[in-house]
Amino acid sequence: MVFKREDGRKPEELRKPINAKVGIIPNADGSAMYQSGETIAIAAVYGPKEHHPRNQRNPRKGTLRCNYNMLSFSVTDRIRPGPSRRSTEISKITEWALTPVVMLEKYPNMVIDVHIHMIQADAGTRCAGINAAAMALAHAGIPMKNLVSSVAAGKLDKTVVLDLDKHEEDFEEGEGSTDIPITMTPDGEITHIQLDGKITSKQLKEAIEMAKKASKEIYEIQKKALKEVGEK
Ligand code: UDP
Repeated sequence: MVFKREDGRKPEELRKPINAKVGIIPNADGSAMYQSGETIAIAAVYGPKEHHPRNQRNPRKGTLRCNYNMLSFSVTDRIRPGPSRRSTEISKITEWALTPVVMLEKYPNMVIDVHIHMIQADAGTRCAGINAAAMALAHAGIPMKNLVSSVAAGKLDKTVVLDLDKHEEDFEEGEGSTDIPITMTPDGEITHIQLDGKITSKQLKEAIEMAKKASKEIYEIQKKALKEVGEK
């Protein structure tokens, strides 16, 4: 039996609305927003610039430094402002998801700062943040081998589904909820995957296939938003 989603979506359906906009912060070198349902991320890129502190410089290649932050009122229960274990982890994951496509070898001793703010959060924030950051990096004119697109696949009870919202992430009946955020290039090269929960290897393959199709959809939306503003 296929799990019935409360919002009426099909298992492989992305949340709506999906919105992407590039060039939203005039003072940044590159910027973008990405919205998936009730989750909204904005990203601002500053750099490449001299890397400080100096002892963290890499003479062989530049450094991508990501900072993920959820604003206090992005969720109903106010979040304590400032860094947390969770935000530090997501910042690192964002760096790992983006680094494979950014041509950092062109910028020895330099740093590119990416600031990601979640202005509304309803799960899937790391994916929305990565989607916004990828567009902001392209908008900043940073050479990239490719764009990346991110989405969470997962499982609700026994059904493989795409793009879980917070209500679904908290689902506890039957086999409960499994969340698998995945980032990939339009060619299907995975740069980031996480798994929270239980899933069989057969269902994992199914989830990755679902994410692959969805990330192509997201890629087209990102590309369109970049074209609208004109790449630097
Ligand atoms: N969340 C929250 N308070 C917190 C952390 C998370 O309300 O301090 C909510 C928020 O809606 C977030 C969701 O829980 O999007 C899922 O968080 P998770 O850590 O699984 O990361 P995400 O799915 O957002 O990438």
